[in-house]
Amino acid sequence: MVRILDGAAAAKNLRMKLAEDLAAEKLSPGLAVVLVGDDPASHVYVRNKARAAEEVGMRSWTHRLPASTTQDELLALVGRLNGDPQVHGILVQLPLPKAINTQAVIEAIDPSKDVDGFHPVNAGRLSLGLPGFVPCTPQGCMLLLQDVWADVSGKRALVLGRSNIVGKPVAQLLLQANCTVTVAHSKTQDLEEECLRADILIAAIGKPQLVQGSWIKEGAVVIDVGINRVEGAKRLIGDVQFDEASRRALAITPVPGGVGPMTIACLLKNTVESARRAAS
Ligand code: NDP
Repeated sequence: MVRILDGAAAAKNLRMKLAEDLAAEKLSPGLAVVLVGDDPASHVYVRNKARAAEEVGMRSWTHRLPASTTQDELLALVGRLNGDPQVHGILVQLPLPKAINTQAVIEAIDPSKDVDGFHPVNAGRLSLGLPGFVPCTPQGCMLLLQDVWADVSGKRALVLGRSNIVGKPVAQLLLQANCTVTVAHSKTQDLEEECLRADILIAAIGKPQLVQGSWIKEGAVVIDVGINRVEGAKRLIGDVQFDEASRRALAITPVPGGVGPMTIACLLKNTVESARRAAS
């Protein structure tokens, strides 16, 4: 019988633990969230992040800027947040409007407040195995995976997708956990064959149900990161054919309610960690 990995419940437990830690350590972390433009999905994400931060007893500030905001204006705001001692975490919601150079904005964030873990300093530290901020979605994937197998050493892991925010960092984390890691992408020759060999499959491609259930190795753990809005569908759809995959997998994350809630909880975890470092 397949185990459905309940990300909402796991995220709630993590948030409760963070709230207890904050009270016990008398920490008062502050998270600044910056949203530029009118992307409806981004508005939902930002609202959820601010609400979750307040629920655990953190301060949070949401800066909503119009789509006409210039790069200089955005960089000036990031500069002010970098210098504000009440702010321990800065998150600039992506995607940014096309006129703004996203990489320049990411690089303007003080790496010690980069709770998204996207700054080259944090990406570099992750690849070197040094402490730093680890991107939230990959962290969430690992927590869900390690709830099934605490020790994944020697397992064959396949990461579908090689983006800087999901695929590459999750591959680094799997490697650190001693998995044998393959990273597949749009130029990979035979995805089915790669999938069939994987004890662990992390799908982060953004293509609704591209991964067929029959591609899943019997007894594999499947973490579906994909969030796809499909016209006519009542709910969000993942990258994996959930029903069919569930018949072969040992454990699988649903979409929604799997990786998504863990991403937000890990953002709060990183912000608490940042406040701890600032306090010491
Ligand atoms: P990107 O678009 O940045 O990257 C997609 C990756 O998938 C690329 O590496 C691309 O390959 C690869 N890819 C695309 N098509 C195929 C294909 N047919 N076969 C194999 N590989 C393919 O996406 P993100 O990493 O930002 O996001 C991936 C998904 O995860 C999206 O659905 C996104 O919404 C979701 N997401 C969910 C989060 C959550 O909290 N649950 C957080 C972040 C993202 P190539 O490099 O060759 O182009």
